[in-house]
Amino acid sequence: MIPFESAFVVGSLASGLYSALYLHAQGVRVFVSESKPFESDTKFSEATRLLESAGIPHEFGVNSTSIMAQYDALIVSPGVPPDAPILVAARSLGKPVIGETEIAAYADIPVLAVTGSNGKSTTTALLGALVSSQYHDTVTGGNLGHPISQLLVEQPRAGRAVLEVSCFQLETIHTFHPRVAVFTNLVPNHLDRYGTMEHYFATKQRIFENMTAENDAVLNWDDPALRGLAPALTPRTYWFGFADMPYDGVHMVGHRIVFRDRSREVELFDTGDLRIPGRHNVANAMSAALAAFLYGVSPEVIRKAVGTFGGLPHRLEYVCSSGGLTYVNDSKATTPESVMTAVDALSGPYAVILGGSSKGVSFDGMAAHLAQDNRLVAAVVMGATGPAIEAALERAGLGQDHIVRAASLEEAVQYGADLMARGGTLLLSPACASFDMFRDFEERGDAFKAIVLRRCATGSL
Ligand code: ADP
Repeated sequence: MIPFESAFVVGSLASGLYSALYLHAQGVRVFVSESKPFESDTKFSEATRLLESAGIPHEFGVNSTSIMAQYDALIVSPGVPPDAPILVAARSLGKPVIGETEIAAYADIPVLAVTGSNGKSTTTALLGALVSSQYHDTVTGGNLGHPISQLLVEQPRAGRAVLEVSCFQLETIHTFHPRVAVFTNLVPNHLDRYGTMEHYFATKQRIFENMTAENDAVLNWDDPALRGLAPALTPRTYWFGFADMPYDGVHMVGHRIVFRDRSREVELFDTGDLRIPGRHNVANAMSAALAAFLYGVSPEVIRKAVGTFGGLPHRLEYVCSSGGLTYVNDSKATTPESVMTAVDALSGPYAVILGGSSKGVSFDGMAAHLAQDNRLVAAVVMGATGPAIEAALERAGLGQDHIVRAASLEEAVQYGADLMARGGTLLLSPACASFDMFRDFEERGDAFKAIVLRRCATGSL
């Protein structure tokens, strides 16, 4: 049920546009307000075309408070900063500020949601593949791919949704209540926005706040913060992890991943079935398989779908090999922990390209991890955080002869490949956001792939 009759939608890109289209189709009076000026050669053209054909009024280049005041509620995209003047004005008028994710609650379909610091997208994509293998009217997206409003406009008959939910999206939920919620893990992230770990964790935990005792929480046993959280949760809790503890959930028994509770033991898959590399992906597959199983997907379907999932681009993505050197694109690694995870999933000698724009976290743990790894041939640093990463590596005891500075990604690949002439892996795993040099991590990963594919095509080392 939609708890308002009219809505002022802030933002005209996918989340804003499609929430307006969705709400309009449900009989809500909507207005779309885009603070950026209209430019005809952008996505705004398509947005205007769709809004005009639906007869939805809109404005560009301004967020008008006087228009906003005529609507019951505000719908915001995750990209709108919480302190945007129009949101501040709305709150002072007592209007609810509602995130686009809330549309999932209005649609009243079962939702399987995934949040956490790392592994969300991989887990969401895999869970989507598992659930849709059994239930063909499943849509998958959210923070990954298309927003829920777009999925519902384009597939109005969707029977359920598998959604990645970011902490930015959880800031503005009201009644969003997944049937199953997965919390992958918790490490420092987005401290530039949240200031403290407590505030970040509190925001992430909101995924559980409207869940009932008939719903299931899937939590990481190996994460002490999540173990500490369980007693306060209303939904049933199930666990995944590598420690063989007597909990309800999935366990690793040799190579077998087994669901176990008081009444039954069921094998879900074998780690040999997996096509995605690294122990972290075993954890992602365990949590996705557990969530799918709790939702009702059969073990046979789970096992088959786990074995066909090839992973997402930009996450430890194999690109090509030439002359004994393998290039791996892990551009999505925007935290120091992701880099540690990536290098642990590699075998043999490697060089790693690090650096980008800052997210306000320390590089010391990662630097210590790399400095003690005798497979590391070189760290190539670049971008705005290059100097800070270099300093952290030096503090951790990595010799200057293992650290190389590069002025561009092209140069970083060149230096890395030169140093790896004897073979091994050249890994792009930046530990940072990309905004200093690229639009986003995808553009950075695509640039890396274009550079190294040229090298592989010409056989250059
Ligand atoms: P997210 O959507 O949370 O950013 P992704 O699935 O896109 O997660 O993976 C991003 C990076 O995080 C990967 O490149 C990998 O290095 C790391 N990662 C993935 N899964 C895990 C995990 N379960 N634990 C720790 N790190 C992980």
